[in-house]
Amino acid sequence: MKHVVILGAGYAGLKVVHELQKRVKGDVKLTLVDRNNYHYEATDLHEVAAGTKKPSDISYPIADVVKPSVTTFIQDEVTALDLANQTVKLADHKDLTYDYLVCALGFVSESFGIPGVDEHALPMATLKEAEAIHQHLLAMMDKYQEVQDPSYLNIVIGGAGFTGIELVGALNDARKTLADRAGVQPSDIKINVIEASTHLLPMFSEKLATYGINLVKSFGVNLVTGARITKVDDGQVEFQQGDPEDAVTSTMEAKTIIWTTGVSGSPIIDEAGFSARRGRVIPSEHLTDNDHDNVYLIGDVAAVMPPDGNRPYPTTAQIALGMGKYVANDLASRLTNGQHLTTPFTYKSLGTVASVGNTHAFGEAMGHEVRGYMASATKKMIANESLFRVGGFREVMKKGRFDLYH
Ligand SMILES: Cc1cc2nc3c(=O)[nH]c(=O)nc-3n(C[C@H](O)[C@H](O)[C@H](O)COP(=O)(O)OP(=O)(O)OC[C@H]3O[C@@H](n4cnc5c(N)ncnc54)[C@H](O)[C@@H]3O)c2cc1C
Repeated sequence: MKHVVILGAGYAGLKVVHELQKRVKGDVKLTLVDRNNYHYEATDLHEVAAGTKKPSDISYPIADVVKPSVTTFIQDEVTALDLANQTVKLADHKDLTYDYLVCALGFVSESFGIPGVDEHALPMATLKEAEAIHQHLLAMMDKYQEVQDPSYLNIVIGGAGFTGIELVGALNDARKTLADRAGVQPSDIKINVIEASTHLLPMFSEKLATYGINLVKSFGVNLVTGARITKVDDGQVEFQQGDPEDAVTSTMEAKTIIWTTGVSGSPIIDEAGFSARRGRVIPSEHLTDNDHDNVYLIGDVAAVMPPDGNRPYPTTAQIALGMGKYVANDLASRLTNGQHLTTPFTYKSLGTVASVGNTHAFGEAMGHEVRGYMASATKKMIANESLFRVGGFREVMKKGRFDLYH
């Protein structure tokens, strides 16, 4: 009996389970481990943070995907990997030994060692963290009613990358609800974004990036670029602009500071002794570790190099799903005939679309630039597609976004 252990029930890990369950026969056992008993769509975390979606709108039970006759699901925290002894350590269960291991533990918020970030800024890398941001925002609105201090209405987002821009859009949608709760006008809720770079949204053409930035600015958002955050305190962000030698230091007061400057792969990966950088491993062409061919690294813990490039593909749900499917096929091949697939993992992006609130979006899909309602509808269709690819028809019917044009 061969034992395949899959760590993480995000896009990558759950896709492996979904596909492999259909392929394996009686002599293979699958074990899936996740700290939660639900799968969440990380691509929609900003909406939960803003309160425009409920946690239940973007999550569903892992049990909906797991076939108990083939797969055992363990809800627990993975605490360490012992690669030499082919063992996974869990917080509350016995150690698991494996013949094949799939590491799909996803991403964590990256503080880049900036003082005060871990203590005073709110990360948005898990469903619980996103929900905590929403609860914090509500508490700040209530506090404003009590003390009438405008810093309770101020929100600072650290980082204007893809995630930061999507969060701005969702917060703009939530402005009226938040304002009503605080007893103020929507324009009194101040959304500020502080970004180190001056070249925003580099994944898009200059024209599209300019469109996105102008869209965000049209919401009355204060976008401060070329500003390096140097420290975060309770209710205050310090940043510097200009040449490092004679930089000007400024501060901004805000009772809500949300951190979206970047993510790294799970810390478990660095701690396990893989040859990794910020929790990400450059895997083999079959997505295995170069030193441990029975260990797969997929999703946000993998940095996959394009055949002709010197920078890895961006980590996205789209590539995570592709990796999950490839690994299920590769494992099925190895479990049947002991051989890897003859073809390596390849990836072709369908495009990237950033949503800016419920009805605006911009990006590039299948070679075409899309904007406005059209882009927003495309983004919702892509979300339905990924829901289908992991959760199947059942989850699309339960959770699919069919309100494409409202
Ligand atoms: C706001 C936002 C918007 C995004 N928008 C897009 C988009 O439009 N398109 C796109 O393609 N990508 C987008 N992304 C990126 C995408 O969400 C990630 O690339 C994707 O989630 C990675 O999938 P994964 O399976 O590797 O990890 P995850 O989805 O993070 O899943 C990891 C799983 O591992 C579990 N886990 C982690 N650590 C442990 C542990 N120690 N023990 C037990 N379980 C553990 C977690 O509970 C989770 O279920 C977005 C991300 C964010 C934050």
